[in-house]
Amino acid sequence: MSAQGSDTGVHRAKGSAANEATSKASPARRAVLGVAVAGMAGALLAPGVHLVEVAHAAAPSAGADARKRWGLLVDATKCADGCTACVDACQRENGLPSTATPTSAQWIRKLELQQISTGRKASAPVMCQHCAQPPCVDVCPTGASFKRADGIVLVDRHSCIGCRYCMMACPYKARSFVHEPVVDQRPEVPRGKGCVESCTLCVHRIDRGVFMTACAEACADAGHRAIVFGDLNDAGSEIAQRVREAGTVALRADLRLDPGVRYQGL
Ligand code: SF4
Ligand code: SF4
Repeated sequence: MSAQGSDTGVHRAKGSAANEATSKASPARRAVLGVAVAGMAGALLAPGVHLVEVAHAAAPSAGADARKRWGLLVDATKCADGCTACVDACQRENGLPSTATPTSAQWIRKLELQQISTGRKASAPVMCQHCAQPPCVDVCPTGASFKRADGIVLVDRHSCIGCRYCMMACPYKARSFVHEPVVDQRPEVPRGKGCVESCTLCVHRIDRGVFMTACAEACADAGHRAIVFGDLNDAGSEIAQRVREAGTVALRADLRLDPGVRYQGL
């Protein structure tokens, strides 16, 4: 396996060669696949050793600050109709293909909304909501889906077997399966054919001390400032103040997943 430890403990393969090698299914991943197909959830690797326990041990969130909870606030009143600056920036930042096909991975999408009773229209981007109680993590049989101490929900692609349980469990349709061979990967954002992936809140930036996501940055650069990124646990941060004072909502709040992405003006 071409994985190597990073200082974050999250992205464990660096460089396109390493990524390409693992995207063709490394021996370790093939072994995991074989075990999982044979037994799925709770598979026994050896007496007393379960697959999900091995995956959890191998996917620590070292480097994540447990005092923080990173999140986004989307202000639909500022989200411009027809603007795709956030979507375009996400694709560039994470090495996703800019020419979308019906099966391409999509980490963030713009939704056009209309209130039936009043006819009022709004648009807003939707991405992984980084739930505090993430159902994608609950259903993952290998532990590949995990939540870091700072609230960011990720997929460790080295232990993801592509079963797509998490995609079915996510009520926001926030995850994508990578169908096509991955080309032009960014070294900081390892991807792989046959794995599931979703918005990482630009975790690679956070882990090098850049506390700004590509989508929020692009939205501000486009003059809209409809996306605010920050620490929900920091009472003095803009995002925490607005969540406290502006009457923000969580999508599908009825599910009580406590998402880290909040919306204003919907
Ligand atoms: Fe998981 Fe979906 Fe919640 Fe993201 S939005 S944490 S993928 S359930
Ligand atoms: Fe886990 Fe989803 Fe990968 Fe299945 S597809 S192993 S549920 S992350």
